[in-house]
Amino acid sequence: MMDRVPALDLTALDPEQAAAVRASRGPVCVLAGAGTGKTRTITHRIAHLIAGGHVKADQVLAVTFTARAAGEMRNRLRTMGLGGDAGQVQARTFHAAALRQLRYFWPQVVGDVPWRLIDSKFPIVSQAAQRAGLRASTELVRDLLSEIEWAKASLIAPEDYPAAAAVHHRDAPVDVAKVAEVYQGYESAKASADGLLLDFDDLLLHTAAALEDYPAVADEFRGRYRSFVVDEYQDVTPLQQRVLDAWLGERDDLTVVGDANQTIYSFTGATPSYLLDFSRRFPDATVVRLERDYRSTPQVVSLANQVIGAARGRIAGTRLALIGQRPQGPEPEFAEYADPQAEAVAVAARIEKLIADGTPAAEIAVLYRTNALSEPFEQELGARAIPFQVRGGEGFFQRQEVRQAVSALRQADARDDLPDEARCGSSLITLVRAALAPVGLTAEEPAGAQAKERWSSLLALVQLTEELVSHDDDMDLTALLRELATRAEAKHPPTVDGVTLASLHAAKGLEWDAVFLAGLTDGTLPIFHVLGRKNAPVDEAGLEEERRLLYVGVTRAREHLSLSWTQRRLQAGGDYRPVTRSRFLNGLIPDSSSASRIAVEAPAEAPRPLCRVCLKPLIGTYATMLGRCRRCPGEADPLLLEALKEWRAEKAEALQRRDFVVFTDTTLTAIAEQLPADDAALAAIAGIGAKKIEQYGADVLAIVSSRLRATVQNPR
Ligand code: ATP
Ligand code: MG
Repeated sequence: MMDRVPALDLTALDPEQAAAVRASRGPVCVLAGAGTGKTRTITHRIAHLIAGGHVKADQVLAVTFTARAAGEMRNRLRTMGLGGDAGQVQARTFHAAALRQLRYFWPQVVGDVPWRLIDSKFPIVSQAAQRAGLRASTELVRDLLSEIEWAKASLIAPEDYPAAAAVHHRDAPVDVAKVAEVYQGYESAKASADGLLLDFDDLLLHTAAALEDYPAVADEFRGRYRSFVVDEYQDVTPLQQRVLDAWLGERDDLTVVGDANQTIYSFTGATPSYLLDFSRRFPDATVVRLERDYRSTPQVVSLANQVIGAARGRIAGTRLALIGQRPQGPEPEFAEYADPQAEAVAVAARIEKLIADGTPAAEIAVLYRTNALSEPFEQELGARAIPFQVRGGEGFFQRQEVRQAVSALRQADARDDLPDEARCGSSLITLVRAALAPVGLTAEEPAGAQAKERWSSLLALVQLTEELVSHDDDMDLTALLRELATRAEAKHPPTVDGVTLASLHAAKGLEWDAVFLAGLTDGTLPIFHVLGRKNAPVDEAGLEEERRLLYVGVTRAREHLSLSWTQRRLQAGGDYRPVTRSRFLNGLIPDSSSASRIAVEAPAEAPRPLCRVCLKPLIGTYATMLGRCRRCPGEADPLLLEALKEWRAEKAEALQRRDFVVFTDTTLTAIAEQLPADDAALAAIAGIGAKKIEQYGADVLAIVSSRLRATVQNPR
């Protein structure tokens, strides 16, 4: 019986997209730049093959690399009547597809040996590291884990790791022979465990092996699935390719889509060579190139073309100049700031204005090279009560090292042998550095990506302390801890309505109306370890991957794009070091931009809100949220505060949410101090937006006015 034929609207495609969709059954490769509609093309091709009776819906397996992307594909297929339910097209990640297949085929292949998926590889790697004589700190174990994952994804066995690591310029956290020993130890520990333990890469390995070694399994599988589609094919690893080959067997009904110039996961073992060699492997493949960019304005597209136009090497040779299809928009903006704090203040102010002018917060993103750069943005958005979500990394204050650091500072605060002078002013900075040393704040930046990230977070805390002390001489340790607590609280829980803060890696494939690319300094993007250390030569391949990251960042923007960098960056030892803007920006900044006259004039910083008591600018989240300086008077009515907290507890329970989701302690304190009489007064308090007023405004105003009435009738 024929499948129900879904409506297929070929007019929604341009001629090249339509050519890829209409190509007859067999190998098809779409090599296309960012925003050219690759996913649209894939979903239409699937529909077309089904409509033409070439394949049944449930014989199609579509794979991509993240659960989010697979979900997006299922959504698009569902709107075309080809949803992911049983009997429909299967759209999954490689891992999810392999997990299903392995569960099904395991009894035929291995019999009744039980297996289970590892919950966490961490303790096993940690034990293997200790057995190898290493002091297994958290960051070392994480870095070892990355190396093991890279090796497995690249089909490199433990004994071959040392040689392969040299060829691929791996930034190994310890001697490569030691890494190999830990890798071997990890593999043995999984096999000798009670029943077999499998990690995600083992799922793929076992799936491929089952199909390669058991003809009955291969026959059954190949009878079931006939047509394969892969999105983001430039980021396929050798291990995933092996699974794909096992799925295909001798067949060639494969459609791949990718953009080699967006390859940004090489460090995990991904390689664009399968995409670039596709027509060599399948000489009769239909190859289609797409150049029309439907996502971004011509201004953004022109900048993207310039960024990638400077690329060198084989991958760059495959680039296509994009042609913008959208109406004209604003020119991309370039800006230089004194330091990361000033940058975050200015970006937050711009975001506030965009939102006020009608851009939804969910259509705005701030993207940076490393997760450690998110802190000032979290702080400034929090202080302005702009909701945000941190993607592809925890929020700054949720990070393990930051929690450890805060607890080390609390312990220091509890000591009774520290004189008051040691707790404030410039001594506070020394104190903080000393307290963070045992947590991992070394004088030199450590080796290994995870260790670097952790170290940068600790350095960010020192920087914050310096910033606060420079504005407030007698800022002491207790006040610092209160400031940190307020900042941690100010982060709104994950919400789909918020501004996205994400690393460039996590932003792949996504799009927003407004994008801020921040921290574009040399040494951050490109990241400094590709620039050659200690007389090592520049890692050219690494440098090109960093350039592609900028290209991915630029092409996320539909309309507004802002690129910024800072003149200074905190370095080891806590001093500011002058830094220069990213070398990738050379030649891109128009002469008319004020940022092209580097550092001649002081960068314009957004005005800070003023203290309602002394009218000086407010410094720090705690002060901003209360609307007064830490030292200015503003005692809250304790009974009112208590009443508000009681109400909050009831609300939170009814909603089954945490207390701070309703209002944070600092916001309640601000209410109890400022005694708002109406919605407008409520809205003037940081942390209270239109949505909160709609949900809770009436309740809060009623509590305040009833407390005021009680005070009038019954003055204390
Ligand atoms: P990336 O490389 O960033 O993953 P992509 O090539 O996958 O990008 P899509 O996300 O599929 O691009 O498409 C980008 C945007 O352009 C989407 O909003 C999509 O709906 C739109 N689009 C694609 N093709 C067309 C078309 N022919 N007409 C109008 N809009 C289109
Ligand atoms: Mg895409």
